[in-house]
Amino acid sequence: MTENNLELVLHCEDLSKTYAQGPLRVEVLKGVDFSVARGETIAIVGASGSGKSTLLNLLGGLDLPSEGRVVLDGQDMFSLSENDRGRLRNKSMGFVYQFHHLLPEFTALENVAMPLLIGKWKTQAAYAEARDTLAKVGLAERVEHKPSELSGGERQRVAIARALVTRPSCVLMDEPTGNLDRRAAEAIQALMMDLNRELHTSFVIVTHDERLAQKMQRVLLLEDGALKPYTDSVA
Ligand code: ADP
Ligand code: MG
Repeated sequence: MTENNLELVLHCEDLSKTYAQGPLRVEVLKGVDFSVARGETIAIVGASGSGKSTLLNLLGGLDLPSEGRVVLDGQDMFSLSENDRGRLRNKSMGFVYQFHHLLPEFTALENVAMPLLIGKWKTQAAYAEARDTLAKVGLAERVEHKPSELSGGERQRVAIARALVTRPSCVLMDEPTGNLDRRAAEAIQALMMDLNRELHTSFVIVTHDERLAQKMQRVLLLEDGALKPYTDSVA
Protein backbone atom coordinates (compact mmCIF):
# COMPACT_ATOMS: atom_id res chain seq x y z
CA MET A 1 0.00 0.00 0.00
CA THR A 2 1.63 3.25 -1.06
CA GLU A 3 0.76 6.65 0.26
CA ASN A 4 -0.81 7.56 -3.10
CA ASN A 5 -3.58 5.01 -2.60
CA LEU A 6 -4.50 6.24 0.82
CA GLU A 7 -7.16 8.76 1.53
CA LEU A 8 -5.62 11.71 3.32
CA VAL A 9 -7.70 13.15 6.13
CA LEU A 10 -5.21 15.84 7.06
CA HIS A 11 -2.15 17.29 5.44
CA CYS A 12 -0.03 20.36 5.65
CA GLU A 13 2.34 21.92 3.17
CA ASP A 14 5.28 24.20 3.85
CA LEU A 15 3.90 25.08 7.26
CA SER A 16 5.94 27.75 9.03
CA LYS A 17 5.49 29.61 12.28
CA THR A 18 7.59 32.48 13.54
CA TYR A 19 6.84 34.14 16.87
CA ALA A 20 7.87 37.73 17.44
CA GLN A 21 9.07 38.27 20.99
CA GLY A 22 9.85 41.97 21.16
CA PRO A 23 12.72 42.51 18.73
CA LEU A 24 13.39 38.77 18.63
CA ARG A 25 11.95 36.53 15.95
CA VAL A 26 11.70 32.89 16.94
CA GLU A 27 11.35 30.58 13.94
CA VAL A 28 9.67 27.55 15.46
CA LEU A 29 8.47 25.68 12.36
CA LYS A 30 10.35 25.94 9.07
CA GLY A 31 8.28 24.47 6.26
CA VAL A 32 6.71 21.32 7.68
CA ASP A 33 5.16 18.88 5.18
CA PHE A 34 3.08 16.16 6.73
CA SER A 35 0.14 13.91 5.83
CA VAL A 36 -2.20 11.73 7.81
CA ALA A 37 -4.06 8.90 6.06
CA ARG A 38 -7.48 7.67 7.16
CA GLY A 39 -7.12 5.41 10.17
CA GLU A 40 -3.43 6.15 10.56
CA THR A 41 -1.84 6.57 14.00
CA ILE A 42 1.18 8.85 14.33
CA ALA A 43 3.30 9.92 17.28
CA ILE A 44 5.28 13.16 17.25
CA VAL A 45 8.19 13.33 19.66
CA GLY A 46 10.81 16.00 20.24
CA ALA A 47 12.60 18.01 22.88
CA SER A 48 10.70 20.44 25.06
CA GLY A 49 10.38 23.73 23.19
CA SER A 50 10.89 22.13 19.76
CA GLY A 51 7.45 23.32 18.60
CA LYS A 52 5.24 20.24 19.06
CA SER A 53 2.32 22.13 20.60
CA THR A 54 2.73 24.90 18.03
CA LEU A 55 2.46 22.34 15.22
CA LEU A 56 -0.56 20.62 16.75
CA ASN A 57 -2.34 23.95 17.26
CA LEU A 58 -1.78 24.85 13.60
CA LEU A 59 -2.96 21.43 12.42
CA GLY A 60 -6.04 21.89 14.56
CA GLY A 61 -6.73 25.35 13.17
CA LEU A 62 -6.40 26.84 16.66
CA ASP A 63 -3.62 29.19 15.62
CA LEU A 64 -2.60 30.79 12.31
CA PRO A 65 0.60 29.81 10.49
CA SER A 66 3.08 32.41 9.24
CA GLU A 67 3.14 30.49 5.96
CA GLY A 68 1.77 27.33 4.44
CA ARG A 69 -1.53 25.53 4.42
CA VAL A 70 -3.44 22.86 6.29
CA VAL A 71 -6.02 20.73 4.47
CA LEU A 72 -8.60 18.87 6.55
CA ASP A 73 -11.04 16.52 4.81
CA GLY A 74 -10.19 18.19 1.51
CA GLN A 75 -10.72 21.77 2.72
CA ASP A 76 -8.01 24.39 3.02
CA MET A 77 -8.56 25.46 6.62
CA PHE A 78 -7.01 28.90 6.54
CA SER A 79 -8.79 29.94 3.35
CA LEU A 80 -12.09 29.58 5.21
CA SER A 81 -13.76 32.27 7.28
CA GLU A 82 -13.35 31.84 11.01
CA ASN A 83 -16.94 30.58 11.28
CA ASP A 84 -16.54 28.04 8.50
CA ARG A 85 -13.23 26.92 9.97
CA GLY A 86 -14.96 26.42 13.31
CA ARG A 87 -17.68 24.37 11.64
CA LEU A 88 -15.16 22.20 9.77
CA ARG A 89 -13.20 21.64 12.98
CA ASN A 90 -16.37 20.76 14.87
CA LYS A 91 -17.30 18.17 12.24
CA SER A 92 -13.98 16.63 11.30
CA MET A 93 -11.52 17.06 14.13
CA GLY A 94 -11.15 16.24 17.79
CA PHE A 95 -8.60 17.84 20.07
CA VAL A 96 -7.32 16.56 23.44
CA TYR A 97 -5.10 18.89 25.43
CA GLN A 98 -2.51 17.99 28.02
CA PHE A 99 -4.81 19.36 30.69
CA HIS A 100 -8.36 18.22 30.16
CA HIS A 101 -9.96 21.68 29.53
CA LEU A 102 -13.36 20.38 30.65
CA LEU A 103 -15.92 22.91 31.79
CA PRO A 104 -15.89 22.61 35.58
CA GLU A 105 -19.52 23.53 36.21
CA PHE A 106 -20.87 20.92 33.78
CA THR A 107 -21.25 17.15 34.21
CA ALA A 108 -19.28 14.64 32.15
CA LEU A 109 -22.38 14.07 30.04
CA GLU A 110 -22.87 17.79 29.39
CA ASN A 111 -19.20 18.27 28.56
CA VAL A 112 -19.26 15.42 26.04
CA ALA A 113 -22.57 16.52 24.48
CA MET A 114 -21.27 20.08 23.99
CA PRO A 115 -19.64 19.64 20.53
CA LEU A 116 -22.87 18.05 19.26
CA LEU A 117 -25.02 20.83 20.67
CA ILE A 118 -22.66 23.37 19.08
CA GLY A 119 -23.06 21.34 15.86
CA LYS A 120 -26.83 21.93 16.13
CA TRP A 121 -27.85 18.40 17.12
CA LYS A 122 -31.21 18.03 18.85
CA THR A 123 -30.69 17.96 22.61
CA GLN A 124 -31.98 14.43 23.21
CA ALA A 125 -29.98 12.91 20.38
CA ALA A 126 -26.86 14.75 21.55
CA TYR A 127 -27.23 13.42 25.09
CA ALA A 128 -27.90 9.89 23.85
CA GLU A 129 -24.77 9.98 21.68
CA ALA A 130 -22.71 11.49 24.51
CA ARG A 131 -23.90 8.72 26.84
CA ASP A 132 -22.86 6.05 24.30
CA THR A 133 -19.46 7.63 23.84
CA LEU A 134 -18.90 7.84 27.60
CA ALA A 135 -19.79 4.14 27.81
CA LYS A 136 -17.16 3.45 25.10
CA VAL A 137 -14.48 5.04 27.23
CA GLY A 138 -15.65 3.04 30.25
CA LEU A 139 -17.44 5.85 32.08
CA ALA A 140 -21.08 4.75 31.87
CA GLU A 141 -21.24 5.05 35.66
CA ARG A 142 -19.79 8.56 35.76
CA VAL A 143 -22.07 10.56 33.45
CA GLU A 144 -23.45 12.81 36.17
CA HIS A 145 -20.06 13.52 37.76
CA LYS A 146 -18.42 16.90 37.42
CA PRO A 147 -14.72 17.12 36.52
CA SER A 148 -13.78 17.84 40.16
CA GLU A 149 -15.47 14.56 41.17
CA LEU A 150 -13.38 12.46 38.77
CA SER A 151 -9.81 11.11 38.89
CA GLY A 152 -7.16 12.46 36.51
CA GLY A 153 -7.46 9.40 34.26
CA GLU A 154 -11.24 9.64 34.24
CA ARG A 155 -11.12 13.33 33.34
CA GLN A 156 -8.80 12.59 30.46
CA ARG A 157 -11.19 9.86 29.28
CA VAL A 158 -14.05 12.38 29.37
CA ALA A 159 -11.87 14.74 27.30
CA ILE A 160 -11.25 11.91 24.83
CA ALA A 161 -14.99 11.12 24.70
CA ARG A 162 -15.64 14.80 23.98
CA ALA A 163 -13.06 14.72 21.17
CA LEU A 164 -14.60 11.56 19.67
CA VAL A 165 -18.31 12.21 20.07
CA THR A 166 -18.64 13.84 16.64
CA ARG A 167 -16.87 10.84 15.02
CA PRO A 168 -14.13 13.07 13.63
CA SER A 169 -11.79 11.90 10.88
CA CYS A 170 -8.80 12.85 12.96
CA VAL A 171 -8.03 13.40 16.64
CA LEU A 172 -5.04 15.47 17.72
CA MET A 173 -3.71 14.93 21.23
CA ASP A 174 -1.09 16.99 23.04
CA GLU A 175 0.54 14.78 25.67
CA PRO A 176 -2.72 13.02 26.57
CA THR A 177 -1.08 10.81 29.18
CA GLY A 178 1.49 13.34 30.41
CA ASN A 179 -0.17 13.84 33.79
CA LEU A 180 -1.35 10.28 34.39
CA ASP A 181 0.18 7.35 36.24
CA ARG A 182 1.24 4.26 34.31
CA ARG A 183 -2.04 2.38 34.77
CA ALA A 184 -4.23 5.28 33.70
CA ALA A 185 -1.89 5.95 30.76
CA GLU A 186 -2.12 2.32 29.62
CA ALA A 187 -5.92 2.41 29.85
CA ILE A 188 -5.99 5.51 27.64
CA GLN A 189 -3.62 3.86 25.19
CA ALA A 190 -5.77 0.71 24.95
CA LEU A 191 -8.85 2.85 24.46
CA MET A 192 -7.26 4.77 21.58
CA MET A 193 -6.26 1.55 19.85
CA ASP A 194 -9.82 0.20 20.18
CA LEU A 195 -11.35 3.37 18.80
CA ASN A 196 -8.86 3.42 15.97
CA ARG A 197 -9.87 -0.13 15.01
CA GLU A 198 -13.58 0.38 15.51
CA LEU A 199 -14.10 3.86 14.03
CA HIS A 200 -10.98 4.18 11.81
CA THR A 201 -10.22 7.44 13.54
CA SER A 202 -6.77 8.79 12.73
CA PHE A 203 -4.71 9.87 15.72
CA VAL A 204 -1.82 12.31 15.85
CA ILE A 205 -0.29 12.30 19.28
CA VAL A 206 2.42 14.45 20.76
CA THR A 207 3.96 12.46 23.56
CA HIS A 208 6.97 11.94 25.79
CA ASP A 209 5.68 8.49 26.60
CA GLU A 210 7.96 6.09 24.73
CA ARG A 211 5.58 3.14 25.19
CA LEU A 212 2.68 5.09 23.73
CA ALA A 213 4.80 6.37 20.83
CA GLN A 214 5.91 2.86 19.92
CA LYS A 215 2.28 1.71 19.64
CA MET A 216 1.66 4.19 16.81
CA GLN A 217 2.16 3.17 13.17
CA ARG A 218 4.63 6.01 12.55
CA VAL A 219 6.85 7.97 14.90
CA LEU A 220 8.17 11.35 13.76
CA LEU A 221 10.73 13.60 15.41
CA LEU A 222 10.28 17.37 15.40
CA GLU A 223 13.75 18.89 15.34
CA ASP A 224 15.10 22.20 14.01
CA GLY A 225 11.62 23.17 12.85
CA ALA A 226 11.11 20.10 10.65
CA LEU A 227 9.62 16.62 10.96
CA LYS A 228 11.77 13.59 10.26
CA PRO A 229 11.38 9.84 10.78
CA TYR A 230 12.33 8.94 14.32
CA THR A 231 14.89 6.24 14.82
CA ASP A 232 15.24 5.22 18.42
CA SER A 233 18.85 5.89 19.29
CA VAL A 234 18.53 4.18 22.70
CA ALA A 235 17.53 0.75 21.36
P1 ADP B 1 6.81 22.10 22.71
O1 ADP B 1 5.34 21.85 22.72
O2 ADP B 1 7.57 21.22 21.76
O3 ADP B 1 7.42 22.05 24.06
P2 ADP B 1 6.02 24.79 21.91
O4 ADP B 1 5.36 24.61 20.61
O5 ADP B 1 5.16 25.00 23.09
O6 ADP B 1 7.05 23.59 22.16
O7 ADP B 1 7.01 26.03 21.82
C1 ADP B 1 8.03 26.13 20.82
C2 ADP B 1 8.77 27.44 20.95
O8 ADP B 1 7.93 28.51 20.62
C3 ADP B 1 9.29 27.72 22.34
O9 ADP B 1 10.57 28.30 22.21
C4 ADP B 1 8.31 28.71 22.90
O10 ADP B 1 8.92 29.55 23.81
C5 ADP B 1 7.86 29.45 21.67
N1 ADP B 1 6.47 29.91 21.79
C6 ADP B 1 5.39 29.12 21.94
N2 ADP B 1 4.25 29.85 21.98
C7 ADP B 1 4.63 31.13 21.86
C8 ADP B 1 3.93 32.39 21.83
N3 ADP B 1 2.60 32.44 21.92
N4 ADP B 1 4.66 33.52 21.70
C9 ADP B 1 6.00 33.48 21.58
N5 ADP B 1 6.73 32.34 21.60
C10 ADP B 1 6.06 31.18 21.73
MG1 MG C 1 4.02 21.29 24.25
